[in-house]
Amino acid sequence: MRFWVGIDDTDSKNGMCTTYVCKMVMERLEENGSKIIGFPRLIRLNPNVPYKTRGNGAVSFLVETQDISELIEITNEAILEFSELDDKDTDPGAVFINAENHELLEVLFNFSKKAIREFVSIDEAFFLIGKYMIPHLKYKTGRGLIGALAAVGAECNDQTIELLAYRKKERFGKKRIIDRDSFFLADLLTYPETFDTVDWGNDTVVSVPNSPDPVLFGIRGTDLESIFKAMKTVKTEEVDRYQVFVTNQATDMHLIHEDEVSEISEGKSYILSGVVVDEPFEIKGGHVFFSINTRFGELMCCAFEPTKQFRSVIRKLKRGDVVTVFGSYKDGAINLEKIRLDSLADIFIEENPICEICGKKMESEGRGKGFRCKKCKTRAEKKVRVKVERYLELGYYEVPPIARRHLSKPLVRMNVEEKHIFR
Ligand SMILES: [Zn+2]
Repeated sequence: MRFWVGIDDTDSKNGMCTTYVCKMVMERLEENGSKIIGFPRLIRLNPNVPYKTRGNGAVSFLVETQDISELIEITNEAILEFSELDDKDTDPGAVFINAENHELLEVLFNFSKKAIREFVSIDEAFFLIGKYMIPHLKYKTGRGLIGALAAVGAECNDQTIELLAYRKKERFGKKRIIDRDSFFLADLLTYPETFDTVDWGNDTVVSVPNSPDPVLFGIRGTDLESIFKAMKTVKTEEVDRYQVFVTNQATDMHLIHEDEVSEISEGKSYILSGVVVDEPFEIKGGHVFFSINTRFGELMCCAFEPTKQFRSVIRKLKRGDVVTVFGSYKDGAINLEKIRLDSLADIFIEENPICEICGKKMESEGRGKGFRCKKCKTRAEKKVRVKVERYLELGYYEVPPIARRHLSKPLVRMNVEEKHIFR
Protein backbone atom coordinates (compact mmCIF):
# COMPACT_ATOMS: atom_id res chain seq x y z
CA MET A 1 0.00 0.00 0.00
CA ARG A 2 1.06 3.56 -0.63
CA PHE A 3 0.89 6.18 2.07
CA TRP A 4 1.61 9.86 2.17
CA VAL A 5 3.52 10.73 5.33
CA GLY A 6 3.47 14.34 6.53
CA ILE A 7 5.68 15.65 9.32
CA ASP A 8 6.07 19.10 10.86
CA ASP A 9 7.33 21.12 13.79
CA THR A 10 10.17 18.93 14.99
CA ASP A 11 12.73 21.73 15.10
CA SER A 12 13.38 24.73 17.32
CA LYS A 13 15.40 27.92 17.22
CA ASN A 14 18.17 25.99 18.92
CA GLY A 15 18.52 23.19 16.46
CA MET A 16 17.23 20.44 14.24
CA CYS A 17 15.37 20.76 10.97
CA THR A 18 12.21 18.94 9.98
CA THR A 19 13.82 18.00 6.64
CA TYR A 20 16.51 16.13 8.56
CA VAL A 21 13.97 14.24 10.65
CA CYS A 22 12.22 13.40 7.38
CA LYS A 23 15.49 12.11 5.94
CA MET A 24 16.09 9.91 8.99
CA VAL A 25 12.56 8.51 8.85
CA MET A 26 12.93 7.70 5.15
CA GLU A 27 16.30 6.03 5.64
CA ARG A 28 14.95 3.82 8.39
CA LEU A 29 11.89 2.91 6.37
CA GLU A 30 14.07 1.87 3.45
CA GLU A 31 16.30 -0.17 5.76
CA ASN A 32 13.10 -1.92 6.78
CA GLY A 33 12.14 -2.83 3.25
CA SER A 34 9.71 0.00 2.47
CA LYS A 35 10.14 1.95 -0.75
CA ILE A 36 10.17 5.75 -0.96
CA ILE A 37 8.49 6.88 -4.19
CA GLY A 38 9.96 9.94 -5.85
CA PHE A 39 11.42 12.87 -3.96
CA PRO A 40 10.10 14.04 -0.60
CA ARG A 41 8.48 17.47 -0.59
CA LEU A 42 9.37 20.54 1.42
CA ILE A 43 6.31 22.76 1.63
CA ARG A 44 6.62 26.30 2.91
CA LEU A 45 3.50 27.58 4.64
CA ASN A 46 2.35 31.12 5.40
CA PRO A 47 5.56 32.88 6.45
CA ASN A 48 3.60 35.26 8.71
CA VAL A 49 2.40 32.68 11.21
CA PRO A 50 3.46 34.38 14.45
CA TYR A 51 4.89 31.45 16.43
CA LYS A 52 7.03 30.34 13.52
CA THR A 53 10.25 32.31 13.61
CA ARG A 54 12.05 30.37 10.93
CA GLY A 55 11.05 29.01 7.56
CA ASN A 56 7.68 27.52 8.46
CA GLY A 57 8.36 24.49 6.31
CA ALA A 58 6.70 21.09 6.57
CA VAL A 59 7.62 17.88 4.77
CA SER A 60 5.85 14.96 3.16
CA PHE A 61 6.80 11.89 1.17
CA LEU A 62 5.15 8.95 -0.52
CA VAL A 63 6.04 5.47 0.68
CA GLU A 64 5.14 1.96 -0.42
CA THR A 65 4.85 -0.30 2.59
CA GLN A 66 3.18 -3.53 3.62
CA ASP A 67 2.56 -2.58 7.18
CA ILE A 68 1.13 0.74 8.34
CA SER A 69 1.74 0.02 12.03
CA GLU A 70 5.43 -0.46 11.29
CA LEU A 71 5.42 2.77 9.27
CA ILE A 72 3.94 4.64 12.23
CA GLU A 73 6.32 3.03 14.70
CA ILE A 74 9.45 3.87 12.72
CA THR A 75 8.27 7.45 12.25
CA ASN A 76 7.51 7.74 15.95
CA GLU A 77 10.94 6.45 16.94
CA ALA A 78 12.75 8.87 14.65
CA ILE A 79 10.67 11.85 15.83
CA LEU A 80 11.34 10.95 19.47
CA GLU A 81 15.04 10.55 18.77
CA PHE A 82 15.66 13.64 16.62
CA SER A 83 13.06 16.26 17.53
CA GLU A 84 13.70 19.18 19.82
CA LEU A 85 10.91 17.96 22.06
CA ASP A 86 12.32 19.72 25.12
CA ASP A 87 11.78 23.11 23.51
CA LYS A 88 8.54 24.66 24.70
CA ASP A 89 7.66 25.79 21.18
CA THR A 90 8.27 22.46 19.46
CA ASP A 91 5.04 20.48 19.03
CA PRO A 92 5.58 17.78 16.40
CA GLY A 93 2.88 16.09 14.43
CA ALA A 94 2.83 13.40 11.75
CA VAL A 95 0.04 12.02 9.58
CA PHE A 96 -0.30 8.88 7.45
CA ILE A 97 -2.68 9.10 4.54
CA ASN A 98 -3.70 6.38 2.16
CA ALA A 99 -2.58 7.56 -1.28
CA GLU A 100 -5.72 6.02 -2.80
CA ASN A 101 -8.02 8.20 -0.70
CA HIS A 102 -8.64 10.81 -3.38
CA GLU A 103 -11.55 12.40 -1.56
CA LEU A 104 -9.34 13.14 1.45
CA LEU A 105 -6.44 14.33 -0.71
CA GLU A 106 -8.82 16.81 -2.36
CA VAL A 107 -9.88 18.09 1.07
CA LEU A 108 -6.22 18.35 2.08
CA PHE A 109 -5.44 20.29 -1.07
CA ASN A 110 -7.81 23.04 0.06
CA PHE A 111 -6.51 22.81 3.61
CA SER A 112 -2.99 23.21 2.27
CA LYS A 113 -3.87 26.20 0.13
CA LYS A 114 -5.28 27.86 3.23
CA ALA A 115 -2.18 27.01 5.29
CA ILE A 116 0.07 28.54 2.64
CA ARG A 117 -1.93 31.73 2.08
CA GLU A 118 -3.94 32.22 5.25
CA PHE A 119 -4.15 30.80 8.76
CA VAL A 120 -5.30 27.38 9.90
CA SER A 121 -6.11 26.59 13.51
CA ILE A 122 -5.11 23.40 15.27
CA ASP A 123 -8.83 22.73 15.73
CA GLU A 124 -9.29 22.59 11.97
CA ALA A 125 -6.52 19.99 11.81
CA PHE A 126 -8.10 17.96 14.64
CA PHE A 127 -11.47 18.19 12.92
CA LEU A 128 -10.13 16.62 9.72
CA ILE A 129 -8.20 13.99 11.64
CA GLY A 130 -11.38 13.04 13.47
CA LYS A 131 -13.69 13.18 10.48
CA TYR A 132 -11.46 11.08 8.22
CA MET A 133 -9.98 9.00 11.05
CA ILE A 134 -6.49 9.85 9.88
CA PRO A 135 -3.74 7.80 11.55
CA HIS A 136 -1.42 10.32 13.18
CA LEU A 137 1.22 11.00 15.81
CA LYS A 138 0.76 13.94 18.12
CA TYR A 139 3.36 15.27 20.54
CA LYS A 140 2.52 17.90 23.15
CA THR A 141 -0.03 20.32 21.62
CA GLY A 142 0.45 18.63 18.24
CA ARG A 143 0.52 21.93 16.40
CA GLY A 144 2.75 20.27 13.80
CA LEU A 145 -0.29 18.34 12.60
CA ILE A 146 -1.31 21.48 10.68
CA GLY A 147 1.86 21.47 8.61
CA ALA A 148 1.88 17.69 8.36
CA LEU A 149 -1.57 17.68 6.74
CA ALA A 150 -0.74 20.69 4.57
CA ALA A 151 2.51 19.13 3.32
CA VAL A 152 0.56 16.07 2.13
CA GLY A 153 -2.20 18.13 0.53
CA ALA A 154 -0.06 20.70 -1.27
CA GLU A 155 -0.34 20.50 -5.02
CA CYS A 156 2.72 21.98 -6.65
CA ASN A 157 1.64 23.14 -10.08
CA ASP A 158 4.74 25.24 -10.01
CA GLN A 159 7.67 23.75 -8.16
CA THR A 160 11.39 24.05 -7.63
CA ILE A 161 14.03 21.74 -6.23
CA GLU A 162 16.31 22.11 -3.24
CA LEU A 163 19.21 19.84 -2.44
CA LEU A 164 19.93 19.94 1.27
CA ALA A 165 23.33 18.76 2.45
CA TYR A 166 23.59 17.85 6.12
CA ARG A 167 26.49 18.00 8.57
CA LYS A 168 28.15 15.27 10.52
CA LYS A 169 26.36 14.90 13.83
CA GLU A 170 29.45 15.88 15.81
CA ARG A 171 29.55 19.17 13.87
CA PHE A 172 25.99 20.24 14.79
CA GLY A 173 26.00 23.67 16.41
CA LYS A 174 29.62 24.41 15.44
CA LYS A 175 30.71 27.11 13.00
CA ARG A 176 30.34 25.88 9.43
CA ILE A 177 33.56 25.49 7.46
CA ILE A 178 33.05 26.52 3.85
CA ASP A 179 35.12 27.92 1.02
CA ARG A 180 33.19 31.06 0.12
CA ASP A 181 34.69 31.39 -3.33
CA SER A 182 33.56 27.91 -4.32
CA PHE A 183 29.93 28.94 -3.76
CA PHE A 184 30.37 31.95 -6.04
CA LEU A 185 31.95 29.66 -8.63
CA ALA A 186 29.04 27.21 -8.32
CA ASP A 187 26.65 30.09 -8.98
CA LEU A 188 28.68 31.23 -11.95
CA LEU A 189 28.63 27.75 -13.47
CA THR A 190 24.98 26.87 -12.89
CA TYR A 191 22.86 30.06 -12.67
CA PRO A 192 20.00 30.45 -13.56
CA GLU A 193 19.23 26.71 -13.37
CA THR A 194 20.28 27.20 -9.75
CA PHE A 195 19.55 30.46 -7.95
CA ASP A 196 19.97 32.16 -4.60
CA THR A 197 23.23 30.33 -3.89
CA VAL A 198 25.07 33.60 -3.38
CA ASP A 199 24.35 37.32 -3.49
CA TRP A 200 27.00 38.98 -5.66
CA GLY A 201 25.83 42.52 -4.98
CA ASN A 202 26.04 42.06 -1.24
CA ASP A 203 29.03 39.68 -1.33
CA THR A 204 27.25 37.03 0.73
CA VAL A 205 26.79 33.27 0.51
CA VAL A 206 23.05 32.81 1.07
CA SER A 207 22.82 29.04 0.67
CA VAL A 208 24.58 28.34 3.98
CA PRO A 209 22.45 28.93 7.08
CA ASN A 210 23.71 30.54 10.26
CA SER A 211 21.29 28.70 12.52
CA PRO A 212 22.41 25.73 14.64
CA ASP A 213 20.47 23.16 12.58
CA PRO A 214 22.00 20.15 10.75
CA VAL A 215 21.85 21.80 7.31
CA LEU A 216 25.27 22.55 5.85
CA PHE A 217 24.00 24.17 2.67
CA GLY A 218 21.01 24.12 0.35
CA ILE A 219 21.22 24.45 -3.42
CA ARG A 220 18.03 25.70 -5.02
CA GLY A 221 17.13 25.44 -8.63
CA THR A 222 14.96 24.02 -11.35
CA ASP A 223 17.26 21.45 -12.92
CA LEU A 224 18.69 18.46 -11.04
CA GLU A 225 21.80 18.14 -13.14
CA SER A 226 22.76 21.78 -12.50
CA ILE A 227 22.04 21.39 -8.81
CA PHE A 228 24.37 18.38 -8.59
CA LYS A 229 27.00 20.27 -10.54
CA ALA A 230 26.75 23.10 -8.00
CA MET A 231 27.00 20.60 -5.14
CA LYS A 232 30.15 19.12 -6.65
CA THR A 233 31.64 22.58 -7.10
CA VAL A 234 31.25 23.84 -3.54
CA LYS A 235 33.98 23.05 -1.04
CA THR A 236 32.95 22.58 2.56
CA GLU A 237 33.46 20.51 5.68
CA GLU A 238 32.44 16.89 5.10
CA VAL A 239 28.87 16.33 3.97
CA ASP A 240 27.28 13.61 6.07
CA ARG A 241 24.28 12.92 3.83
CA TYR A 242 22.10 14.88 1.46
CA GLN A 243 18.55 14.82 0.19
CA VAL A 244 16.76 16.34 -2.78
CA PHE A 245 13.36 17.89 -2.01
CA VAL A 246 10.69 19.08 -4.37
CA THR A 247 9.40 22.36 -2.94
CA ASN A 248 6.99 25.22 -3.38
CA GLN A 249 9.84 27.62 -2.67
CA ALA A 250 10.34 30.38 -5.21
CA THR A 251 6.80 30.05 -6.59
CA ASP A 252 4.87 33.01 -5.05
CA MET A 253 2.28 30.47 -3.93
CA HIS A 254 1.61 32.60 -0.84
CA LEU A 255 0.48 35.65 -2.81
CA ILE A 256 -3.22 36.47 -3.12
CA HIS A 257 -4.20 38.59 -6.11
CA GLU A 258 -6.31 41.64 -5.28
CA ASP A 259 -9.07 40.44 -7.62
CA GLU A 260 -9.60 37.38 -5.41
CA VAL A 261 -10.54 39.27 -2.25
CA SER A 262 -12.83 42.02 -0.99
CA GLU A 263 -10.53 43.18 1.80
CA ILE A 264 -6.98 42.72 2.90
CA SER A 265 -5.98 41.45 6.30
CA GLU A 266 -2.99 41.18 8.57
CA GLY A 267 -0.60 38.31 7.99
CA LYS A 268 -1.60 37.47 4.44
CA SER A 269 0.39 38.26 1.32
CA TYR A 270 -0.86 40.09 -1.73
CA ILE A 271 -0.38 41.40 -5.23
CA LEU A 272 -1.91 44.90 -5.26
CA SER A 273 -1.78 47.81 -7.63
CA GLY A 274 -2.03 51.45 -6.66
CA VAL A 275 -0.93 55.01 -7.17
CA VAL A 276 1.77 56.53 -4.99
CA VAL A 277 0.25 59.15 -2.71
CA ASP A 278 2.86 59.67 -0.02
CA GLU A 279 6.37 59.83 -1.35
CA PRO A 280 9.08 57.64 0.18
CA PHE A 281 10.55 58.62 3.52
CA GLU A 282 13.22 56.85 5.49
CA ILE A 283 13.15 56.12 9.19
CA LYS A 284 16.01 55.36 11.56
CA GLY A 285 17.57 52.04 10.66
CA GLY A 286 17.25 52.63 6.94
CA HIS A 287 13.69 51.37 6.43
CA VAL A 288 11.91 53.13 3.56
CA PHE A 289 8.14 53.72 3.63
CA PHE A 290 5.68 55.14 1.12
CA SER A 291 1.97 54.83 0.63
CA ILE A 292 -0.24 53.98 -2.30
CA ASN A 293 -3.90 54.43 -3.01
CA THR A 294 -5.44 51.04 -3.78
CA ARG A 295 -8.95 49.73 -4.28
CA PHE A 296 -8.87 48.94 -0.54
CA GLY A 297 -7.89 52.49 0.40
CA GLU A 298 -4.57 54.00 1.28
CA LEU A 299 -1.89 51.48 2.17
CA MET A 300 1.58 51.84 3.60
CA CYS A 301 4.35 49.90 1.86
CA CYS A 302 7.81 49.27 3.22
CA ALA A 303 11.24 48.25 1.99
CA PHE A 304 13.16 47.27 5.10
CA GLU A 305 16.87 47.87 5.54
CA PRO A 306 17.84 44.24 4.75
CA THR A 307 16.41 44.69 1.25
CA LYS A 308 19.55 46.78 0.60
CA GLN A 309 19.84 48.13 -2.97
CA PHE A 310 16.15 47.45 -3.66
CA ARG A 311 15.54 50.57 -1.56
CA SER A 312 17.33 52.76 -4.07
CA VAL A 313 14.50 52.02 -6.52
CA ILE A 314 11.84 52.66 -3.89
CA ARG A 315 13.39 55.97 -2.84
CA LYS A 316 12.90 57.31 -6.40
CA LEU A 317 9.11 56.88 -6.41
CA LYS A 318 7.06 60.03 -6.83
CA ARG A 319 3.44 60.94 -6.24
CA GLY A 320 1.37 59.75 -9.18
CA ASP A 321 3.52 56.75 -10.07
CA VAL A 322 1.46 53.62 -10.72
CA VAL A 323 2.91 50.49 -9.14
CA THR A 324 2.03 46.88 -8.39
CA VAL A 325 3.37 45.62 -5.08
CA PHE A 326 4.06 42.03 -4.02
CA GLY A 327 4.40 41.18 -0.33
CA SER A 328 2.96 40.40 3.07
CA TYR A 329 0.61 42.76 4.87
CA LYS A 330 2.21 42.87 8.28
CA ASP A 331 1.96 45.38 11.11
CA GLY A 332 -0.15 47.61 8.87
CA ALA A 333 2.24 47.74 5.91
CA ILE A 334 2.97 45.73 2.79
CA ASN A 335 6.48 44.34 3.28
CA LEU A 336 7.80 44.48 -0.26
CA GLU A 337 9.22 41.38 -1.88
CA LYS A 338 8.85 42.72 -5.41
CA ILE A 339 7.47 45.76 -7.16
CA ARG A 340 6.43 46.49 -10.71
CA LEU A 341 6.59 50.07 -11.91
CA ASP A 342 3.65 50.36 -14.30
CA SER A 343 3.88 54.05 -15.17
CA LEU A 344 5.86 56.99 -13.93
CA ALA A 345 4.34 60.39 -13.29
CA ASP A 346 5.69 63.35 -15.24
CA ILE A 347 7.46 65.59 -12.76
CA PHE A 348 8.21 69.21 -13.64
CA ILE A 349 10.31 71.83 -11.97
CA GLU A 350 10.57 75.55 -12.68
CA GLU A 351 13.97 76.79 -13.71
CA ASN A 352 15.53 80.04 -14.84
CA PRO A 353 15.28 80.35 -18.62
CA ILE A 354 18.24 79.59 -20.85
CA CYS A 355 19.90 82.20 -23.05
CA GLU A 356 19.35 81.36 -26.69
CA ILE A 357 22.70 82.78 -27.72
CA CYS A 358 25.20 81.35 -25.22
CA GLY A 359 23.12 78.52 -23.81
CA LYS A 360 23.72 79.46 -20.19
CA LYS A 361 21.10 79.98 -17.55
CA MET A 362 19.82 83.55 -17.23
CA GLU A 363 19.94 85.35 -13.91
CA SER A 364 17.02 86.80 -12.05
CA GLU A 365 16.70 90.57 -12.13
CA GLY A 366 14.89 90.50 -8.80
CA ARG A 367 11.45 89.42 -7.74
CA GLY A 368 8.93 89.97 -10.54
CA LYS A 369 11.46 91.70 -12.79
CA GLY A 370 12.24 88.87 -15.17
CA PHE A 371 15.53 87.31 -16.19
CA ARG A 372 18.46 88.29 -18.34
CA CYS A 373 21.81 87.09 -19.62
CA LYS A 374 24.48 89.54 -18.51
CA LYS A 375 26.76 88.67 -21.39
CA CYS A 376 24.35 88.64 -24.34
CA LYS A 377 21.78 91.02 -22.89
CA THR A 378 18.95 88.68 -23.81
CA ARG A 379 15.85 88.79 -21.62
CA ALA A 380 12.94 86.57 -20.58
CA GLU A 381 9.93 87.27 -18.38
CA LYS A 382 9.20 83.96 -16.69
CA LYS A 383 10.77 80.81 -15.35
CA VAL A 384 10.38 77.80 -17.61
CA ARG A 385 8.84 74.44 -16.77
CA VAL A 386 11.30 71.60 -17.23
CA LYS A 387 10.47 67.91 -17.15
CA VAL A 388 12.61 66.08 -14.64
CA GLU A 389 14.53 63.04 -15.83
CA ARG A 390 13.40 60.18 -13.55
CA TYR A 391 16.33 57.81 -14.07
CA LEU A 392 13.98 54.93 -13.43
CA GLU A 393 12.90 52.22 -15.83
CA LEU A 394 9.47 50.63 -15.88
CA GLY A 395 9.14 46.95 -15.05
CA TYR A 396 9.83 44.51 -12.26
CA TYR A 397 12.28 44.97 -9.39
CA GLU A 398 12.97 42.45 -6.63
CA VAL A 399 14.77 42.33 -3.32
CA PRO A 400 18.29 40.85 -3.54
CA PRO A 401 18.90 37.16 -2.71
CA ILE A 402 19.96 37.90 0.89
CA ALA A 403 16.50 39.35 1.60
CA ARG A 404 14.48 36.79 -0.34
CA ARG A 405 11.76 34.88 1.48
CA HIS A 406 11.50 31.16 0.80
CA LEU A 407 8.21 31.42 -1.09
CA SER A 408 9.11 34.50 -3.14
CA LYS A 409 9.55 33.82 -6.81
CA PRO A 410 12.78 35.32 -8.10
CA LEU A 411 12.40 37.35 -11.30
CA VAL A 412 14.78 34.97 -13.05
CA ARG A 413 11.96 32.39 -12.80
CA MET A 414 9.26 34.75 -14.04
CA ASN A 415 8.29 34.82 -17.65
CA VAL A 416 7.83 38.57 -17.85
CA GLU A 417 9.34 41.50 -19.72
CA GLU A 418 11.38 44.28 -18.18
CA LYS A 419 13.01 42.42 -15.33
CA HIS A 420 15.54 44.18 -13.12
CA ILE A 421 17.33 41.38 -11.32
CA PHE A 422 19.50 41.95 -8.29
CA ARG A 423 21.77 38.99 -8.21
ZN1 LIG B 1 23.82 84.58 -23.19
